[in-house]
Amino acid sequence: MPDRPSANQPPPLEPYNLFSTDPVLADVACREGAAAHVDWLSALGQRAGSIEVFQWGDLANRFEPQLATHDRFGERIDEVRYHPAYHSLMELSVSEGLHCRHYESQPGDGGYVARNIAMNLVAQVEVGHSCPISMTGAALYALEHQPDLAARWTPLVASRTYDPTSAAPQDKAGVLLGMSMTERQGGSDVRANTTEAVPLGGGEYRLRGAKWFVSAPMCDAFLTLAKAPAGLSCFLVPRVLPDGDRNGLQLMRLKDKLGNRSNASSEMEFVDAMAWLVGEEGRGVRTIIDMVAGTRLDCTNWAAALMRQAVAQAGWHVAHRAAFGAVLIDKPLMQNVLADLEIETEAATMLVGRLSGAFERAPADPGEAALARIGAAVAKYWVTKRSSPVVREALECVGGNGYVEESTLPRLYREAPLNSIWEGSGNVMALDVLRALARSPETVDAFVAELERGSGRDHRVDGAITSASAALTAETVDEGEARRFVEHLATAWTASLLVQHGDQDVTDAYVRSRLGDDWGRELGTLPTDVPLRRLAERAIPQR
Ligand SMILES: Cc1cc2nc3c(=O)[nH]c(=O)nc-3n(C[C@H](O)[C@H](O)[C@H](O)COP(=O)(O)OP(=O)(O)OC[C@H]3O[C@@H](n4cnc5c(N)ncnc54)[C@H](O)[C@@H]3O)c2cc1C
Repeated sequence: MPDRPSANQPPPLEPYNLFSTDPVLADVACREGAAAHVDWLSALGQRAGSIEVFQWGDLANRFEPQLATHDRFGERIDEVRYHPAYHSLMELSVSEGLHCRHYESQPGDGGYVARNIAMNLVAQVEVGHSCPISMTGAALYALEHQPDLAARWTPLVASRTYDPTSAAPQDKAGVLLGMSMTERQGGSDVRANTTEAVPLGGGEYRLRGAKWFVSAPMCDAFLTLAKAPAGLSCFLVPRVLPDGDRNGLQLMRLKDKLGNRSNASSEMEFVDAMAWLVGEEGRGVRTIIDMVAGTRLDCTNWAAALMRQAVAQAGWHVAHRAAFGAVLIDKPLMQNVLADLEIETEAATMLVGRLSGAFERAPADPGEAALARIGAAVAKYWVTKRSSPVVREALECVGGNGYVEESTLPRLYREAPLNSIWEGSGNVMALDVLRALARSPETVDAFVAELERGSGRDHRVDGAITSASAALTAETVDEGEARRFVEHLATAWTASLLVQHGDQDVTDAYVRSRLGDDWGRELGTLPTDVPLRRLAERAIPQR
Protein backbone atom coordinates (compact mmCIF):
# COMPACT_ATOMS: atom_id res chain seq x y z
CA MET A 1 0.00 0.00 0.00
CA PRO A 2 1.44 3.42 -0.87
CA ASP A 3 1.84 5.69 2.14
CA ARG A 4 0.30 9.16 2.16
CA PRO A 5 3.10 11.23 0.63
CA SER A 6 3.50 8.97 -2.40
CA ALA A 7 -0.29 8.87 -2.85
CA ASN A 8 -0.11 12.67 -3.15
CA GLN A 9 -2.95 13.01 -0.63
CA PRO A 10 -2.67 15.66 2.10
CA PRO A 11 -2.65 14.59 5.74
CA PRO A 12 -5.81 15.54 7.67
CA LEU A 13 -5.81 19.13 8.83
CA GLU A 14 -7.25 18.30 12.23
CA PRO A 15 -6.23 18.40 15.03
CA TYR A 16 -5.34 22.08 14.89
CA ASN A 17 -6.03 25.16 16.93
CA LEU A 18 -8.82 27.08 15.17
CA PHE A 19 -8.10 30.25 17.13
CA SER A 20 -4.34 30.56 17.20
CA THR A 21 -3.96 29.61 13.51
CA ASP A 22 -6.48 32.23 12.36
CA PRO A 23 -4.70 35.22 10.81
CA VAL A 24 -7.06 37.84 12.25
CA LEU A 25 -9.11 36.53 15.18
CA ALA A 26 -6.54 37.22 17.93
CA ASP A 27 -6.15 40.82 16.69
CA VAL A 28 -9.92 41.24 16.54
CA ALA A 29 -10.21 39.98 20.12
CA CYS A 30 -7.61 42.42 21.43
CA ARG A 31 -8.86 45.39 19.41
CA GLU A 32 -12.46 44.89 20.51
CA GLY A 33 -11.56 44.63 24.20
CA ALA A 34 -11.42 40.86 24.67
CA ALA A 35 -7.68 40.48 25.33
CA ALA A 36 -8.41 39.03 28.77
CA HIS A 37 -10.26 36.15 27.09
CA VAL A 38 -7.54 35.11 24.66
CA ASP A 39 -6.31 32.16 26.75
CA TRP A 40 -9.82 30.80 26.99
CA LEU A 41 -10.31 31.26 23.23
CA SER A 42 -7.05 29.50 22.49
CA ALA A 43 -7.99 26.54 24.69
CA LEU A 44 -11.41 26.37 23.04
CA GLY A 45 -9.80 26.65 19.60
CA GLN A 46 -7.68 23.60 20.42
CA ARG A 47 -10.66 21.63 21.74
CA ALA A 48 -12.97 22.54 18.86
CA GLY A 49 -10.24 21.65 16.37
CA SER A 50 -9.65 18.20 17.88
CA ILE A 51 -10.23 15.02 15.90
CA GLU A 52 -12.98 14.06 18.34
CA VAL A 53 -15.02 17.25 17.91
CA PHE A 54 -14.66 17.14 14.12
CA GLN A 55 -16.01 13.58 14.29
CA TRP A 56 -18.97 14.74 16.36
CA GLY A 57 -19.72 17.27 13.63
CA ASP A 58 -19.71 14.56 10.99
CA LEU A 59 -21.80 12.07 12.98
CA ALA A 60 -24.37 14.59 14.17
CA ASN A 61 -25.14 15.41 10.53
CA ARG A 62 -24.85 11.93 9.06
CA PHE A 63 -27.30 10.44 11.57
CA GLU A 64 -30.16 12.88 11.43
CA PRO A 65 -32.61 13.60 14.25
CA GLN A 66 -35.69 11.38 14.26
CA LEU A 67 -39.18 12.43 15.30
CA ALA A 68 -41.19 10.22 17.67
CA THR A 69 -44.74 11.56 17.86
CA HIS A 70 -46.16 8.71 19.97
CA ASP A 71 -44.95 6.07 22.38
CA ARG A 72 -45.65 2.39 21.89
CA PHE A 73 -49.00 2.70 23.67
CA GLY A 74 -50.20 5.37 21.29
CA GLU A 75 -49.73 8.28 23.68
CA ARG A 76 -48.30 11.49 22.25
CA ILE A 77 -44.72 12.18 23.27
CA ASP A 78 -43.59 14.65 20.55
CA GLU A 79 -39.91 14.05 21.05
CA VAL A 80 -36.92 14.32 18.76
CA ARG A 81 -34.14 11.81 19.20
CA TYR A 82 -30.63 12.88 18.34
CA HIS A 83 -27.38 11.03 17.74
CA PRO A 84 -25.11 11.07 20.82
CA ALA A 85 -22.66 13.25 18.86
CA TYR A 86 -25.25 16.05 18.77
CA HIS A 87 -25.59 15.87 22.54
CA SER A 88 -21.78 15.98 22.88
CA LEU A 89 -21.68 19.16 20.80
CA MET A 90 -24.45 20.71 22.86
CA GLU A 91 -22.66 19.77 26.05
CA LEU A 92 -19.46 21.38 24.79
CA SER A 93 -21.16 24.66 23.83
CA VAL A 94 -23.32 24.88 26.96
CA SER A 95 -20.45 24.00 29.31
CA GLU A 96 -18.44 26.83 27.71
CA GLY A 97 -21.41 29.16 28.20
CA LEU A 98 -21.83 30.01 24.51
CA HIS A 99 -25.59 30.19 25.09
CA CYS A 100 -25.37 33.01 27.65
CA ARG A 101 -21.85 34.46 28.20
CA HIS A 102 -22.64 37.44 25.99
CA TYR A 103 -25.82 38.16 27.93
CA GLU A 104 -23.87 38.05 31.19
CA SER A 105 -21.12 40.37 29.91
CA GLN A 106 -20.85 44.07 30.83
CA PRO A 107 -19.98 46.78 28.28
CA GLY A 108 -16.20 46.88 27.99
CA ASP A 109 -15.36 43.57 29.69
CA GLY A 110 -14.89 41.83 26.34
CA GLY A 111 -17.26 39.02 27.26
CA TYR A 112 -19.66 39.61 24.39
CA VAL A 113 -16.88 39.83 21.82
CA ALA A 114 -15.13 36.75 23.23
CA ARG A 115 -18.34 34.73 23.17
CA ASN A 116 -18.87 35.62 19.51
CA ILE A 117 -15.34 34.59 18.60
CA ALA A 118 -15.91 31.35 20.50
CA MET A 119 -19.13 30.86 18.56
CA ASN A 120 -17.16 31.30 15.32
CA LEU A 121 -14.73 28.55 16.41
CA VAL A 122 -17.36 25.99 17.34
CA ALA A 123 -19.54 26.80 14.32
CA GLN A 124 -16.62 26.09 12.00
CA VAL A 125 -16.76 22.49 13.13
CA GLU A 126 -20.55 22.10 13.47
CA VAL A 127 -23.00 24.91 12.95
CA GLY A 128 -26.34 23.05 13.24
CA HIS A 129 -26.30 22.72 17.01
CA SER A 130 -25.43 26.43 17.27
CA CYS A 131 -29.04 27.28 16.41
CA PRO A 132 -30.51 26.52 19.88
CA ILE A 133 -27.34 27.88 21.49
CA SER A 134 -27.92 31.18 19.67
CA MET A 135 -31.67 31.36 20.27
CA THR A 136 -31.28 30.74 24.00
CA GLY A 137 -29.04 33.73 24.72
CA ALA A 138 -30.91 35.99 22.31
CA ALA A 139 -34.26 35.16 23.94
CA LEU A 140 -33.06 36.56 27.27
CA TYR A 141 -32.98 40.08 25.80
CA ALA A 142 -36.63 39.80 24.81
CA LEU A 143 -37.59 38.26 28.16
CA GLU A 144 -36.46 41.47 29.85
CA HIS A 145 -39.78 42.92 28.67
CA GLN A 146 -41.41 40.70 31.34
CA PRO A 147 -39.31 41.03 34.51
CA ASP A 148 -41.14 38.31 36.51
CA LEU A 149 -40.54 35.74 33.77
CA ALA A 150 -36.96 36.93 33.30
CA ALA A 151 -36.33 36.50 37.03
CA ARG A 152 -37.52 32.88 36.85
CA TRP A 153 -35.90 31.84 33.57
CA THR A 154 -32.59 33.70 33.39
CA PRO A 155 -30.96 31.73 36.25
CA LEU A 156 -32.09 28.45 34.62
CA VAL A 157 -30.50 29.53 31.33
CA ALA A 158 -27.29 30.66 33.05
CA SER A 159 -26.48 27.08 34.05
CA ARG A 160 -23.45 25.51 32.34
CA THR A 161 -25.11 22.09 32.45
CA TYR A 162 -26.72 20.71 29.32
CA ASP A 163 -29.85 18.86 30.37
CA PRO A 164 -31.74 17.29 27.44
CA THR A 165 -34.42 15.64 29.58
CA SER A 166 -38.12 16.46 29.30
CA ALA A 167 -39.02 17.79 32.72
CA ALA A 168 -40.57 20.82 34.37
CA PRO A 169 -38.22 23.77 33.77
CA GLN A 170 -37.63 24.48 37.46
CA ASP A 171 -36.56 20.85 38.00
CA LYS A 172 -33.91 20.87 35.28
CA ALA A 173 -30.17 21.44 35.60
CA GLY A 174 -30.30 23.89 32.69
CA VAL A 175 -32.78 25.03 30.04
CA LEU A 176 -32.68 26.16 26.42
CA LEU A 177 -35.01 28.52 24.55
CA GLY A 178 -36.28 28.52 20.97
CA MET A 179 -38.32 30.79 18.72
CA SER A 180 -41.58 30.24 16.86
CA MET A 181 -42.70 33.02 14.57
CA THR A 182 -42.98 31.65 11.03
CA GLU A 183 -46.32 30.36 9.82
CA ARG A 184 -47.29 28.70 6.55
CA GLN A 185 -48.81 31.88 5.16
CA GLY A 186 -45.91 34.17 6.06
CA GLY A 187 -42.40 34.18 7.47
CA SER A 188 -40.84 37.54 6.66
CA ASP A 189 -44.25 39.16 7.02
CA VAL A 190 -45.24 37.96 10.48
CA ARG A 191 -48.28 40.21 10.38
CA ALA A 192 -49.86 37.31 8.49
CA ASN A 193 -49.69 35.17 11.68
CA THR A 194 -53.04 33.65 12.64
CA THR A 195 -52.13 31.66 15.77
CA GLU A 196 -54.63 32.83 18.32
CA ALA A 197 -53.99 33.70 21.98
CA VAL A 198 -56.93 33.66 24.36
CA PRO A 199 -56.36 35.41 27.70
CA LEU A 200 -57.03 33.39 30.84
CA GLY A 201 -56.07 36.14 33.31
CA GLY A 202 -52.93 36.72 35.35
CA GLY A 203 -50.73 36.95 32.24
CA GLU A 204 -51.66 33.42 31.10
CA TYR A 205 -53.09 32.59 27.69
CA ARG A 206 -54.15 29.56 25.64
CA LEU A 207 -52.61 29.33 22.17
CA ARG A 208 -54.20 27.64 19.14
CA GLY A 209 -52.60 27.52 15.73
CA ALA A 210 -49.71 26.14 13.73
CA LYS A 211 -46.12 27.20 13.14
CA TRP A 212 -44.39 26.19 9.92
CA PHE A 213 -40.77 26.29 11.09
CA VAL A 214 -39.72 25.74 14.70
CA SER A 215 -36.10 24.70 14.99
CA ALA A 216 -34.66 22.81 17.92
CA PRO A 217 -38.09 21.67 19.13
CA MET A 218 -36.56 20.01 22.20
CA CYS A 219 -35.92 23.45 23.68
CA ASP A 220 -37.60 23.95 27.03
CA ALA A 221 -39.66 26.95 25.94
CA PHE A 222 -40.28 29.04 22.82
CA LEU A 223 -40.74 32.74 22.33
CA THR A 224 -43.83 32.72 20.15
CA LEU A 225 -45.85 35.27 18.21
CA ALA A 226 -49.61 34.96 18.38
CA LYS A 227 -52.66 37.19 17.97
CA ALA A 228 -54.14 38.36 21.26
CA PRO A 229 -57.17 40.68 21.52
CA ALA A 230 -54.89 43.77 21.29
CA GLY A 231 -52.92 42.38 18.34
CA LEU A 232 -49.80 40.38 17.61
CA SER A 233 -48.09 39.64 20.92
CA CYS A 234 -45.07 37.75 22.20
CA PHE A 235 -45.43 34.74 24.51
CA LEU A 236 -43.20 32.31 26.31
CA VAL A 237 -44.53 28.80 25.73
CA PRO A 238 -42.98 26.03 27.85
CA ARG A 239 -42.68 22.51 26.41
CA VAL A 240 -43.29 20.96 29.81
CA LEU A 241 -45.55 22.75 32.29
CA PRO A 242 -44.38 23.64 35.81
CA ASP A 243 -46.46 20.72 37.20
CA GLY A 244 -44.53 18.30 34.96
CA ASP A 245 -47.33 17.69 32.42
CA ARG A 246 -46.61 18.13 28.70
CA ASN A 247 -47.88 21.40 27.26
CA GLY A 248 -50.10 21.31 24.16
CA LEU A 249 -47.28 21.40 21.60
CA GLN A 250 -47.52 18.76 18.89
CA LEU A 251 -44.74 18.07 16.39
CA MET A 252 -46.27 17.24 13.01
CA ARG A 253 -43.14 16.70 10.87
CA LEU A 254 -39.45 17.43 10.72
CA LYS A 255 -38.30 19.35 7.65
CA ASP A 256 -36.22 17.42 5.11
CA LYS A 257 -33.64 20.19 4.60
CA LEU A 258 -30.82 20.95 2.18
CA GLY A 259 -28.39 21.20 5.10
CA ASN A 260 -28.34 22.06 8.79
CA ARG A 261 -29.23 18.42 9.27
CA SER A 262 -28.05 17.96 12.83
CA ASN A 263 -30.57 20.61 13.86
CA ALA A 264 -34.18 19.39 13.78
CA SER A 265 -36.62 21.94 12.34
CA SER A 266 -40.24 21.05 13.00
CA GLU A 267 -43.77 21.95 12.06
CA MET A 268 -45.44 22.54 15.40
CA GLU A 269 -49.09 22.83 16.35
CA PHE A 270 -50.32 24.63 19.42
CA VAL A 271 -53.28 22.77 20.86
CA ASP A 272 -54.58 24.93 23.68
CA ALA A 273 -50.97 25.43 24.72
CA MET A 274 -50.44 27.38 27.92
CA ALA A 275 -48.42 30.56 27.37
CA TRP A 276 -47.23 33.55 29.36
CA LEU A 277 -47.37 37.03 27.83
CA VAL A 278 -43.97 38.70 27.35
CA GLY A 279 -44.15 42.50 27.25
CA GLU A 280 -47.25 44.37 26.21
CA GLU A 281 -50.16 42.82 24.37
CA GLY A 282 -50.15 44.04 20.76
CA ARG A 283 -46.40 44.84 20.86
CA GLY A 284 -45.16 41.36 19.98
CA VAL A 285 -42.91 42.31 17.08
CA ARG A 286 -41.31 45.07 19.11
CA THR A 287 -40.62 42.56 21.89
CA ILE A 288 -39.30 39.65 19.85
CA ILE A 289 -37.08 41.90 17.72
CA ASP A 290 -34.76 42.10 20.73
CA MET A 291 -34.23 38.37 20.29
CA VAL A 292 -33.92 38.58 16.51
CA ALA A 293 -31.14 41.21 16.76
CA GLY A 294 -28.95 38.64 18.53
CA THR A 295 -29.73 35.72 16.26
CA ARG A 296 -29.07 37.90 13.20
CA LEU A 297 -25.61 38.69 14.50
CA ASP A 298 -24.99 34.98 15.03
CA CYS A 299 -26.10 34.20 11.45
CA THR A 300 -23.55 36.74 10.21
CA ASN A 301 -20.92 35.23 12.46
CA TRP A 302 -21.72 31.70 11.20
CA ALA A 303 -21.41 32.88 7.61
CA ALA A 304 -17.89 34.14 8.35
CA ALA A 305 -17.08 30.92 10.24
CA LEU A 306 -18.14 28.76 7.29
CA MET A 307 -15.91 30.85 5.03
CA ARG A 308 -12.92 30.45 7.36
CA GLN A 309 -13.29 26.68 7.73
CA ALA A 310 -13.76 26.16 3.99
CA VAL A 311 -10.78 28.36 3.15
CA ALA A 312 -8.60 26.67 5.79
CA GLN A 313 -9.43 23.26 4.30
CA ALA A 314 -8.68 24.60 0.81
CA GLY A 315 -5.40 26.17 1.92
CA TRP A 316 -4.30 22.99 3.65
CA HIS A 317 -5.11 20.90 0.58
CA VAL A 318 -3.29 23.04 -1.96
CA ALA A 319 -0.27 23.27 0.34
CA HIS A 320 0.04 19.47 0.28
CA ARG A 321 -1.21 18.40 -3.12
CA ALA A 322 0.91 18.42 -6.26
CA ALA A 323 -0.21 18.58 -9.89
CA PHE A 324 1.70 19.09 -13.10
CA GLY A 325 5.08 18.94 -11.39
CA ALA A 326 4.53 21.35 -8.50
CA VAL A 327 2.63 21.71 -5.27
CA LEU A 328 -0.64 23.50 -6.05
CA ILE A 329 0.22 26.44 -3.82
CA ASP A 330 3.14 27.14 -6.18
CA LYS A 331 0.81 27.52 -9.16
CA PRO A 332 0.12 31.21 -9.81
CA LEU A 333 -3.51 30.67 -10.72
CA MET A 334 -4.19 28.69 -7.55
CA GLN A 335 -2.46 31.45 -5.57
CA ASN A 336 -4.86 33.92 -7.11
CA VAL A 337 -7.91 31.85 -6.15
CA LEU A 338 -6.76 31.26 -2.59
CA ALA A 339 -5.68 34.87 -2.13
CA ASP A 340 -9.10 36.07 -3.27
CA LEU A 341 -10.83 33.66 -0.88
CA GLU A 342 -8.59 34.75 1.96
CA ILE A 343 -9.17 38.47 1.62
CA GLU A 344 -12.94 37.97 1.50
CA THR A 345 -12.76 35.81 4.63
CA GLU A 346 -10.55 38.23 6.57
CA ALA A 347 -12.81 41.11 5.58
CA ALA A 348 -15.91 39.24 6.78
CA THR A 349 -14.25 38.27 10.06
CA MET A 350 -13.21 41.84 10.77
CA LEU A 351 -16.68 43.13 10.02
CA VAL A 352 -18.28 40.64 12.41
CA GLY A 353 -15.67 41.46 15.06
CA ARG A 354 -16.37 45.18 14.83
CA LEU A 355 -20.10 44.56 15.02
CA SER A 356 -19.67 42.33 18.09
CA GLY A 357 -17.82 45.19 19.78
CA ALA A 358 -20.66 47.58 18.91
CA PHE A 359 -23.21 45.15 20.38
CA GLU A 360 -21.15 44.82 23.55
CA ARG A 361 -20.75 48.58 24.04
CA ALA A 362 -24.29 49.49 22.92
CA PRO A 363 -25.92 49.51 26.39
CA ALA A 364 -23.47 52.20 27.55
CA ASP A 365 -22.84 54.08 24.31
CA PRO A 366 -25.66 55.48 22.13
CA GLY A 367 -23.33 55.85 19.12
CA GLU A 368 -22.40 52.19 19.28
CA ALA A 369 -26.07 51.29 19.77
CA ALA A 370 -26.97 53.18 16.58
CA LEU A 371 -24.11 51.52 14.71
CA ALA A 372 -25.22 48.10 15.97
CA ARG A 373 -28.75 48.77 14.68
CA ILE A 374 -27.79 49.62 11.11
CA GLY A 375 -24.54 47.66 11.02
CA ALA A 376 -26.27 44.39 11.92
CA ALA A 377 -28.53 44.69 8.88
CA VAL A 378 -25.72 45.77 6.54
CA ALA A 379 -23.42 42.95 7.69
CA LYS A 380 -26.15 40.28 7.77
CA TYR A 381 -27.03 41.10 4.18
CA TRP A 382 -23.47 41.25 2.93
CA VAL A 383 -21.49 38.60 4.82
CA THR A 384 -24.18 35.93 4.43
CA LYS A 385 -24.28 36.67 0.69
CA ARG A 386 -20.49 36.38 0.34
CA SER A 387 -20.38 33.08 2.21
CA SER A 388 -21.85 30.81 -0.48
CA PRO A 389 -19.51 31.76 -3.36
CA VAL A 390 -16.49 31.60 -1.07
CA VAL A 391 -17.38 28.14 0.26
CA ARG A 392 -18.16 26.90 -3.26
CA GLU A 393 -14.83 28.07 -4.65
CA ALA A 394 -12.94 26.66 -1.65
CA LEU A 395 -14.62 23.33 -2.27
CA GLU A 396 -13.32 23.39 -5.83
CA CYS A 397 -9.75 23.99 -4.61
CA VAL A 398 -9.95 20.57 -2.97
CA GLY A 399 -10.89 19.02 -6.32
CA GLY A 400 -12.91 15.78 -6.34
CA ASN A 401 -12.19 15.23 -2.63
CA GLY A 402 -13.99 18.49 -1.93
CA TYR A 403 -17.17 17.02 -3.40
CA VAL A 404 -17.01 14.07 -1.01
CA GLU A 405 -18.67 14.27 2.40
CA GLU A 406 -15.59 13.18 4.36
CA SER A 407 -13.85 16.44 3.42
CA THR A 408 -16.56 18.41 5.37
CA LEU A 409 -16.82 20.82 2.43
CA PRO A 410 -20.17 19.52 1.13
CA ARG A 411 -21.63 20.12 4.58
CA LEU A 412 -20.23 23.66 4.71
CA TYR A 413 -21.59 24.26 1.20
CA ARG A 414 -25.09 23.16 2.21
CA GLU A 415 -25.01 25.33 5.30
CA ALA A 416 -23.93 28.50 3.52
CA PRO A 417 -27.24 29.62 1.90
CA LEU A 418 -29.22 29.21 5.11
CA ASN A 419 -27.73 32.22 6.87
CA SER A 420 -29.13 34.52 4.25
CA ILE A 421 -32.60 32.95 4.52
CA TRP A 422 -33.46 32.65 8.20
CA GLU A 423 -33.68 35.59 10.58
CA GLY A 424 -34.37 37.95 7.70
CA SER A 425 -33.68 36.94 4.08
CA GLY A 426 -31.44 39.00 1.81
CA ASN A 427 -34.11 41.36 0.49
CA VAL A 428 -35.63 41.75 3.93
CA MET A 429 -32.25 42.73 5.37
CA ALA A 430 -31.53 45.19 2.57
CA LEU A 431 -34.94 46.79 3.16
CA ASP A 432 -34.25 46.79 6.91
CA VAL A 433 -31.24 49.03 6.27
CA LEU A 434 -33.55 51.53 4.56
CA ARG A 435 -36.01 51.23 7.45
CA ALA A 436 -33.28 51.89 10.00
CA LEU A 437 -32.16 54.99 8.14
CA ALA A 438 -35.70 56.33 7.79
CA ARG A 439 -36.92 55.59 11.32
CA SER A 440 -33.73 56.06 13.33
CA PRO A 441 -31.89 59.09 11.91
CA GLU A 442 -29.13 58.61 14.50
CA THR A 443 -28.04 55.55 12.52
CA VAL A 444 -26.96 57.81 9.63
CA ASP A 445 -24.59 59.81 11.84
CA ALA A 446 -23.31 56.65 13.52
CA PHE A 447 -22.54 54.95 10.24
CA VAL A 448 -20.89 58.02 8.71
CA ALA A 449 -18.77 58.45 11.85
CA GLU A 450 -17.81 54.79 11.69
CA LEU A 451 -16.75 55.06 8.04
CA GLU A 452 -14.75 58.22 8.74
CA ARG A 453 -12.57 56.44 11.29
CA GLY A 454 -10.77 55.06 8.23
CA SER A 455 -10.35 58.45 6.50
CA GLY A 456 -7.02 60.00 5.59
CA ARG A 457 -5.01 56.82 5.11
CA ASP A 458 -5.65 55.89 1.49
CA HIS A 459 -7.20 58.12 -1.16
CA ARG A 460 -9.10 55.20 -2.71
CA VAL A 461 -10.72 54.37 0.63
CA ASP A 462 -11.39 58.07 1.22
CA GLY A 463 -13.28 58.13 -2.10
CA ALA A 464 -15.40 55.15 -1.04
CA ILE A 465 -16.14 56.74 2.33
CA THR A 466 -17.17 60.02 0.72
CA SER A 467 -19.47 58.36 -1.77
CA ALA A 468 -21.05 55.99 0.80
CA SER A 469 -21.58 58.91 3.19
CA ALA A 470 -23.21 60.94 0.41
CA ALA A 471 -25.50 58.00 -0.42
CA LEU A 472 -26.44 57.69 3.25
CA THR A 473 -27.44 61.30 3.56
CA ALA A 474 -29.29 61.46 0.22
CA GLU A 475 -33.00 62.06 0.45
CA THR A 476 -34.34 58.60 -0.44
CA VAL A 477 -33.22 55.28 -1.79
CA ASP A 478 -35.55 53.50 -4.15
CA GLU A 479 -36.61 50.06 -2.80
CA GLY A 480 -35.47 48.39 -5.99
CA GLU A 481 -31.97 49.74 -5.43
CA ALA A 482 -31.66 48.50 -1.85
CA ARG A 483 -29.23 45.64 -2.52
CA ARG A 484 -26.90 47.84 -4.54
CA PHE A 485 -27.06 50.51 -1.86
CA VAL A 486 -26.27 48.11 0.99
CA GLU A 487 -23.44 46.55 -0.99
CA HIS A 488 -22.00 50.03 -1.38
CA LEU A 489 -22.18 50.61 2.39
CA ALA A 490 -20.76 47.19 3.22
CA THR A 491 -17.73 47.43 0.97
CA ALA A 492 -16.95 50.99 2.11
CA TRP A 493 -17.25 49.91 5.76
CA THR A 494 -15.03 46.89 5.20
CA ALA A 495 -12.41 48.99 3.41
CA SER A 496 -12.49 51.51 6.25
CA LEU A 497 -11.88 48.74 8.79
CA LEU A 498 -9.16 47.14 6.70
CA VAL A 499 -7.26 50.36 6.14
CA GLN A 500 -7.22 50.93 9.91
CA HIS A 501 -6.53 47.43 11.15
CA GLY A 502 -5.90 45.01 8.30
CA ASP A 503 -2.77 43.51 6.84
CA GLN A 504 -1.43 45.96 4.27
CA ASP A 505 -1.38 43.50 1.37
CA VAL A 506 -4.87 42.24 2.18
CA THR A 507 -6.11 45.82 2.34
CA ASP A 508 -4.48 46.80 -0.93
CA ALA A 509 -5.86 43.75 -2.75
CA TYR A 510 -9.32 44.34 -1.28
CA VAL A 511 -9.33 48.01 -2.23
CA ARG A 512 -8.13 47.41 -5.78
CA SER A 513 -10.55 44.60 -6.45
CA ARG A 514 -13.65 45.45 -4.41
CA LEU A 515 -13.55 49.25 -4.61
CA GLY A 516 -11.77 49.67 -7.93
CA ASP A 517 -12.54 47.81 -11.12
CA ASP A 518 -9.44 45.62 -11.10
CA TRP A 519 -11.36 42.38 -10.60
CA GLY A 520 -13.31 39.83 -12.65
CA ARG A 521 -16.72 38.30 -12.09
CA GLU A 522 -15.42 35.19 -10.33
CA LEU A 523 -13.11 34.71 -7.37
CA GLY A 524 -9.50 34.18 -8.41
CA THR A 525 -9.33 37.25 -10.64
CA LEU A 526 -7.17 39.57 -8.56
CA PRO A 527 -4.62 41.70 -10.40
CA THR A 528 -1.38 39.71 -10.60
CA ASP A 529 0.87 42.45 -9.27
CA VAL A 530 -0.49 42.00 -5.74
CA PRO A 531 1.58 39.54 -3.63
CA LEU A 532 -0.62 36.56 -4.42
CA ARG A 533 1.58 33.94 -2.82
CA ARG A 534 1.83 35.80 0.47
CA LEU A 535 -1.93 36.38 0.55
CA ALA A 536 -2.61 32.74 -0.33
CA GLU A 537 -0.29 31.52 2.42
CA ARG A 538 -2.33 33.40 5.01
CA ALA A 539 -5.08 30.87 4.27
CA ILE A 540 -2.97 27.87 5.29
CA PRO A 541 -3.28 27.07 9.00
CA GLN A 542 0.26 26.97 10.43
CA ARG A 543 0.05 24.18 13.00
C1 LIG B 1 -33.72 25.62 8.33
C2 LIG B 1 -34.69 26.64 8.78
C3 LIG B 1 -34.97 26.78 10.11
C4 LIG B 1 -35.87 27.74 10.55
N1 LIG B 1 -36.15 27.85 11.87
C5 LIG B 1 -37.08 28.75 12.30
C6 LIG B 1 -37.43 28.85 13.67
O1 LIG B 1 -36.86 28.17 14.53
N2 LIG B 1 -38.40 29.72 14.03
C7 LIG B 1 -39.03 30.51 13.12
O2 LIG B 1 -39.90 31.27 13.50
N3 LIG B 1 -38.72 30.45 11.81
C8 LIG B 1 -37.76 29.59 11.38
N4 LIG B 1 -37.44 29.51 10.05
C9 LIG B 1 -38.18 30.31 9.10
C10 LIG B 1 -37.42 31.44 8.48
O3 LIG B 1 -37.15 32.43 9.44
C11 LIG B 1 -38.23 31.93 7.28
O4 LIG B 1 -38.18 30.92 6.31
C12 LIG B 1 -37.71 33.24 6.73
O5 LIG B 1 -37.96 34.28 7.65
C13 LIG B 1 -38.36 33.59 5.40
O6 LIG B 1 -39.75 33.52 5.49
P1 LIG B 1 -40.59 32.66 4.43
O7 LIG B 1 -39.99 31.32 4.34
O8 LIG B 1 -42.01 32.75 4.79
O9 LIG B 1 -40.33 33.38 3.07
P2 LIG B 1 -41.11 34.68 2.51
O10 LIG B 1 -41.32 35.63 3.61
O11 LIG B 1 -42.27 34.25 1.73
O12 LIG B 1 -39.99 35.26 1.53
C14 LIG B 1 -39.72 34.68 0.25
C15 LIG B 1 -38.73 35.60 -0.46
O13 LIG B 1 -39.30 36.87 -0.64
C16 LIG B 1 -38.41 37.89 -0.18
N5 LIG B 1 -39.18 39.01 0.32
C17 LIG B 1 -39.99 39.07 1.41
N6 LIG B 1 -40.48 40.30 1.55
C18 LIG B 1 -40.01 41.05 0.53
C19 LIG B 1 -40.18 42.41 0.12
N7 LIG B 1 -40.91 43.25 0.84
N8 LIG B 1 -39.53 42.83 -0.99
C20 LIG B 1 -38.75 41.99 -1.69
N9 LIG B 1 -38.55 40.70 -1.37
C21 LIG B 1 -39.18 40.24 -0.26
C22 LIG B 1 -37.56 37.22 0.88
O14 LIG B 1 -36.30 37.89 1.02
C23 LIG B 1 -37.41 35.83 0.32
O15 LIG B 1 -36.33 35.79 -0.58
C24 LIG B 1 -36.51 28.58 9.60
C25 LIG B 1 -36.21 28.46 8.25
C26 LIG B 1 -35.30 27.51 7.83
C27 LIG B 1 -35.00 27.38 6.37
